Amino acid sequence: MAFCIKCGTKLNEGVKYCPKCGQMVDGVLVSQPQENQSQQQDIYVHARKSKGLAMTLCFFGGWCGLHKFYLREYLSGSLYLIFCWTLLPLIGAIIDFVLLLLTPKTAFHRMYDK
Ligand SMILES: [Zn+2]
Repeated sequence: MAFCIKCGTKLNEGVKYCPKCGQMVDGVLVSQPQENQSQQQDIYVHARKSKGLAMTLCFFGGWCGLHKFYLREYLSGSLYLIFCWTLLPLIGAIIDFVLLLLTPKTAFHRMYDK
């Protein structure tokens, strides 16, 4: 269901102008399902992992996979730990840090809150 962006009048499909105010329908505001909103709130309510903490652990302990253990990625965390005497986990940690930085909070919680 679409509504006129200017006056909020319900618009029938195929209408080119708002019957009430004449606003072009190109600029319609498609109403978003309410479900989506509550789902997003849900993610925050049940958020158990902190993105900030994960990034801090990655920054200071990323070379031994600390952030991986925090995010319950035990397999890759163990690999970081085993190879921490090489430079590879350090490079991995830098990549992980950038990836965490670029991951939106909602996506982060979707991935790690289980
Ligand atoms: Zn209108």
